Amino acid sequence: MLLKTINDVTKIVKEWKKEGKTIGVVPTMGALHSGHASLIKKAHEICDKVIVSVFLNPIQFGVNEYLDKYPRTLENDVKVAKENGADVVFAPCISEMYPVNQKATDKNFTYIYAPYMLSDKLCGKVRPGHFDGVLTVVNKLFNISQADFAFFGQKDAQQLIIVKKMVKDLNIPIEIVPCPIVRDIDGLALSSRNSYLTKEQRKQALCLNKMMKTIERLFSQGVITSRTLFDEALTLLDKNIELEYLEFVDFEQLENVEEIKSKTLVAAAIHVGKVRLIDNVILNP
Ligand code: AMP
Repeated sequence: MLLKTINDVTKIVKEWKKEGKTIGVVPTMGALHSGHASLIKKAHEICDKVIVSVFLNPIQFGVNEYLDKYPRTLENDVKVAKENGADVVFAPCISEMYPVNQKATDKNFTYIYAPYMLSDKLCGKVRPGHFDGVLTVVNKLFNISQADFAFFGQKDAQQLIIVKKMVKDLNIPIEIVPCPIVRDIDGLALSSRNSYLTKEQRKQALCLNKMMKTIERLFSQGVITSRTLFDEALTLLDKNIELEYLEFVDFEQLENVEEIKSKTLVAAAIHVGKVRLIDNVILNP
């Protein structure tokens, strides 16, 4: 069922709550692919009722981040969501979510600010304000859906860590369920942004996953020095690709680690032409 207003979602959620149903929410920006589908499937496994939100949240996009060009495929999204077990697709327009103002810079709206300690690292370095926009919309979606569980992809590892931190810090009564990265057969992590890549760029982009795999392999062979792993991975970087970052950080504070002695996130972002792609692996000693 496709719902476009908060009121309609509230009505159905009230009925579900009366019936004692558990609710799962899967926040997305649409252009659903198998990565999103895996989250929806997981939600369907765990929860009685599943709400998938499809909302291209303007306040998490920076000025040069091509919000206008983001693929919009609502009809197909509804199909994918239904096929994978969603009960409701909530696809509000911008004014439904931000009736007073629409920009993070506006002074007449309540924002959630991500802890700077986490948000100025990795992707946050080049995306100021991005995680504030994410947390603000995620908080709204948690409240609107009244969900017991929320499903997030490990692909956006920093987002997942920051959302978990918000839930803990603000005592939000919801359980965050992390879901593994879904990849294409060639290894490229699925992303709505992959559709911007030309055939040639797609081939070049594969080096990102190769770098991650090499790091995993070397680590399993006993290499634990981040610098060595970094240098080895760098030899695989395609010459047409710009590396934004490749970092080895701990899970709590996202601080760089020199030696991998506890659970470590290896995260990277690259630019293939104008397309920015991210990927990561977790190293667990
Ligand atoms: P987005 O629509 O890009 O905001 O993504 C919505 C949710 O889907 C986020 O929790 C993402 O981490 C998750 N997601 C996106 N791509 C993948 C993927 N390839 N594998 C697993 N989860 C994904």
